[in-house]
Amino acid sequence: MPLQPVMLLLAVILSLWAAAPLRAADPYTADRERMVARQLKGRDITDPRVLAAMGRVPRHRFVPEHLAPLAYSDMPLPIGSGQTISQPYIVALMTQWAEVKTGDKVLEVGTGSGYQAAVLAELTGRVYSIELLPELARAAATRLQELGYGAVRVRTGDGYAGWPEEAPFDAILVTAAAPEPPPALAAQLKEGGRLVVPVGPRRQVQQLLLLRKKSGKLVEDKRLPVMFVPLVPGSETKK
Ligand code: SAH
Repeated sequence: MPLQPVMLLLAVILSLWAAAPLRAADPYTADRERMVARQLKGRDITDPRVLAAMGRVPRHRFVPEHLAPLAYSDMPLPIGSGQTISQPYIVALMTQWAEVKTGDKVLEVGTGSGYQAAVLAELTGRVYSIELLPELARAAATRLQELGYGAVRVRTGDGYAGWPEEAPFDAILVTAAAPEPPPALAAQLKEGGRLVVPVGPRRQVQQLLLLRKKSGKLVEDKRLPVMFVPLVPGSETKK
């Protein structure tokens, strides 16, 4: 055999060998594809950018290790500190409602595991996320960094007050239920911006609302019955 084809063959074998551990490193690829097909496309998630984002983010890395085999099931899961990561469909729906375009500035209230923030980071490079519990904020920031979502800015704080230094935002997503849309968040939304927030009493059925800012006022566009953990008033709300 002449030398060149031998080298080529060697190069092909080497590259296949090098790619193998990468594929083996994500044993949940098939589960994730099935989740996108059945739970998202099979319902009303139609935005191709949202579907692609949900197909990329390794959700199993955002849940406690012993729950990884359940990460792509059609349900919310506990993430510690009495909090939960939302069902994949709800994350996708909130993201679709938020209509995030490349370059949009987005605020998330309730970082939790960091999963929703990672999905948003697939759509724009400008994601800000606030978490009330310091241990969750720290763990989420580390996890996001490790998974290549280091551009997401995470801070510990009271989401009721929003993030005034970075306002205004094109979209704001609240991933815990409030008695009403927090006024500070409404104020930090751009004209034409979208606020996605579950509203209603604690531990009862709430309404997930899509509100748009029109002529300075929030106008309801869509709603869906849901159940979220409560948005807890932090020190900035109480004072
Ligand atoms: N979006 C998360 C799930 C969040 S669960 C994910 O993708 O995993 C709701 C989160 O809101 C919890 O982590 C809870 O601690 C947080 N939270 C509750 N009240 C808050 C407040 N006032 N400000 C910021 N975060 C709050």
